[in-house]
Amino acid sequence: MSTVIQNMPFDVDEIRKDFPILKREVNGYPLVYFDNAATSQTPQQVIDVIVDYYSNYNANIHRGVHTLSQEATDAYEQARVKIQKHFNADKSHEIIFTSGTTHGINLVANGFTAILQEGDEIIVSALEHHSNIVPWQMLCERTGAILKVIPMNEEGALIMSAYDALLSEKTKLVFCNHISNALGTINPIEEIITKAHMVGAAVLIDGAQACPHVKPNVKELDVDFYVASAHKMCGPTGVGVLYGKEEWLQKLPPYQGGGEMIAEVTFEKTTYAGLPHKFEAGTPNICGGIAFGAALDYINKIGFQAIQDYEHKLLAYATEKLLQIDGLKIYGTSANKTSVISFNIDGIHPYDIGTIIDKLGIAVRTGHHCAQPIMDYFNIPGTIRASFAFYNTTEEIDRFVEAVVKAKNMLL
Ligand SMILES: *Cc1c(COP(=O)(O)O)cnc(C)c1O
Repeated sequence: MSTVIQNMPFDVDEIRKDFPILKREVNGYPLVYFDNAATSQTPQQVIDVIVDYYSNYNANIHRGVHTLSQEATDAYEQARVKIQKHFNADKSHEIIFTSGTTHGINLVANGFTAILQEGDEIIVSALEHHSNIVPWQMLCERTGAILKVIPMNEEGALIMSAYDALLSEKTKLVFCNHISNALGTINPIEEIITKAHMVGAAVLIDGAQACPHVKPNVKELDVDFYVASAHKMCGPTGVGVLYGKEEWLQKLPPYQGGGEMIAEVTFEKTTYAGLPHKFEAGTPNICGGIAFGAALDYINKIGFQAIQDYEHKLLAYATEKLLQIDGLKIYGTSANKTSVISFNIDGIHPYDIGTIIDKLGIAVRTGHHCAQPIMDYFNIPGTIRASFAFYNTTEEIDRFVEAVVKAKNMLL
């Protein structure tokens, strides 16, 4: 007899009950929240964990002998293990708590200052968020390394033959996002990682936008560094994760000095603590880390396959509806994309549409989405970006499309 393990049936109406914010009204209309690529909403299960922490066991970790401190330490370290399992890392000390993706990238970029030499090359993709561009430019300024860019095509997909041509024994580091926040493109990171390793380069993947939709397996990917933010995956702001292979984390120097990251301090010399504490100076976001663990429990219970299947339907539905609007152009049309739609309407500034539909209770993002090089490529000031999560519905998409049409009629 075969046993089939089934996920909970996916029921969006039930799921929506977990998110108190989805009950509110904005400007007299029920909120339609389509800005999930900027930050996701928080389910009651995670809010409860935050309230419980501050109500019952708020204390500083690792240093206290008292009960509250031990409870907080245990919960924080259990969250680290949850994150380790979620990303399938070998060891829990390969999981470094950060304040978010940006912090994780800066930690690694700072560490490579001691490793790179003048003339070394590092490669970035054309599809990056500013947080995965600027720290590397700063690294190049410090070291004399040279930044190369993998170009993209009209669909918003990376041109992989150009990547092949950029790789050489000079390449020391490659960094790329797993999924583009501006266009939703899913990048071929397996190929990017394998090819970088063939020339001996390390790879950092920015998973900020991927983690709400997929469950990355860092071991299978054989990636050197993987970073993400809790707030895009139903967790709180101000906490994130840096996964690093142990050998790399041993090699990199600490990023910040302070309490918790030392083994011994004298005025002559300080020796650093082992992993992960070497990279966790000062009091961390303890409650945030614990809530991050609760957020992972929450999304894993819904299941990533169910999330992807459902979001794919939302994406197809919204794409079809939007394309019926005259003069509307979608940017980012790669076959391999997630539930993000970036678009413009001929002759209208994206900001104007965003402002009008906000009056109708609809939250979208307008602007360059921290990815100005992509906007430059398309020669536009920005786009309107609607990004869907598993708690959104086709009825919300109908209201959104109606609102866009209304805005268009007002503005043209
Ligand atoms: C949101 C985002 C970031 C930045 O994340 P923070 O939480 O603001 O540090 C970086 N890269 C991508 C692809 C993102 O979507």
